[in-house]
Amino acid sequence: MRRPNIAAIRRRLEAATPGVWKTGDRFGTGTLGSHVAVISGGLPPLELDPYRNGRNDAAFIAHAHQDVAVLLAELETALAIIDALADPDPCWYDHGGGCQAHGQGSDERCADARAQEFLLRHPGRR
Ligand SMILES: [Zn+2]
Repeated sequence: MRRPNIAAIRRRLEAATPGVWKTGDRFGTGTLGSHVAVISGGLPPLELDPYRNGRNDAAFIAHAHQDVAVLLAELETALAIIDALADPDPCWYDHGGGCQAHGQGSDERCADARAQEFLLRHPGRR
């Protein structure tokens, strides 16, 4: 499998017009017409033309299908790795705040605790 180019996806995201994007047939009092997306906040519909960042927005939209698929595949891979490496035993902390169960220092929360919380946000994996 070809290595995903996460940096290229990030560049397209950062180059696109910021804000919340919406789609629909009508926005406010106007019709969408040839516009394909709008930015919230009372701005007029986003036109995909070179005068209003349209070229970058069009590139972002055009790559969205592939980019989301790549990111989901990478997330699934990362989840599987975290699931395989995370220790399901609970943390227990010493007086200094270090996790004795996983040998983590007190400078930050135990990585296993963070891994378990992350896995809980993605149920159906265990
Ligand atoms: Zn721990």
